[in-house]
Amino acid sequence: MFKLAERLSGLEESVTLAITVKARALKAEGRDVIGFGAGEPDFDTPENIKEAAIKAIRSGQTKYTPVGGINELKDAIIGKFRQDNNLTYSRDEIIVSCGGKHSIFNLFQAILNPGDEVIIPAPYWVSYPVMVSLGGGMPRIVHTTEADGFRMSPEAFKRHLSPNTKAVVINSPSNPTGAAYTEKELAKLAEIALENGLLIISDEIYEKLTYDGFKATSIASISDEVKKRTIVLNGVSKTYSMTGWRIGYAAGPKEIVKAMTNIQSQSTSNPTSISQWAAVEAISGPQDAIGVMVREFAKRRKAMVDGLNAIDGISAILPQGAFYVFANVSVLFGRSYKGKTIKGSVDLATYLIDEAGIAVVPGEPFGDDKFVRLSYATSMDNITKGIKRIGEAAGALK
Ligand code: PLP
Repeated sequence: MFKLAERLSGLEESVTLAITVKARALKAEGRDVIGFGAGEPDFDTPENIKEAAIKAIRSGQTKYTPVGGINELKDAIIGKFRQDNNLTYSRDEIIVSCGGKHSIFNLFQAILNPGDEVIIPAPYWVSYPVMVSLGGGMPRIVHTTEADGFRMSPEAFKRHLSPNTKAVVINSPSNPTGAAYTEKELAKLAEIALENGLLIISDEIYEKLTYDGFKATSIASISDEVKKRTIVLNGVSKTYSMTGWRIGYAAGPKEIVKAMTNIQSQSTSNPTSISQWAAVEAISGPQDAIGVMVREFAKRRKAMVDGLNAIDGISAILPQGAFYVFANVSVLFGRSYKGKTIKGSVDLATYLIDEAGIAVVPGEPFGDDKFVRLSYATSMDNITKGIKRIGEAAGALK
């Protein structure tokens, strides 16, 4: 048999994919499936952004661009950091990639040597540990619970340090929990990172999607010392409903950004020229569409959390940001249907899709099997109907 690369040995097909595939197949058969799996806003990309892309096509912006992004977009990103985060960067401290995911991938390729450890608080976005492994490093998982508000404490952080720790990942607000750190909490984590000479990897892709007046802080803005040791990751996917356009970016120390750009130059080359021009408009044009989306998400978030908490056997804490609820369903484990026992989050997700026509994402690939993730990037009508069905399905388990 053909022998694949050994570094792929830990790389498995995403468990989440199985549910998505099943949901799609059931829908195609005409079954009424309500999807809570979405990892993207259900809003359309704003019209002014689409127009900027059309204008880019018409004016011939259809050729290779500089690998790390056009100066116009870098300048828009620099302006955003100055205005939103009080952070000053120069063009050589910014890289634009084919989505935030691509920036993060480049980063781990750029900084890791074999044996280097990267601290990742769990529940985590599924791609971090895999990307660390693909970069030759070792993910070091720090478990958090609802009691911690799904936030890594300074003590837990310290306990997981080793002489091989190279970096720590902070994702605030988080996918899948929606948890976000206050400025004070970030300052404490940053202090530990600095004391131990770590690189801080701050994924701020859900920065603008926050609720109840909570404002996300960039850890890089804590001090100049912290900024020098931080790579901030962000993008236009979630904020501007632009997941398909594939534009993300990173800001941080020149030498790291240069290494990431070199990797990009030998792999993908520049992100799509047309999308870059659309992103210039997204970042520097009118921002009203974000407020409209956040107000709608805020209503749905409350409806979903309240609805889930009213179900016997399910509990969920109120997330501060993003568009996900991470619900604890472990009380239902051990119960059965049709002679099958629910043993974990994958079993429960399978039961919900098969028996109730509800697609949720199991918590297991996010690093905590007691939970399932539900996205409220879907209509209020779907949330109302879907929660009712989940309640009935939970009640039918014996
Ligand atoms: N970071 C987190 C935490 C995410 O949830 C996602 C997308 O799901 C990304 C980064 C990457 O998004 P994109 O590659 O669309 O910019």
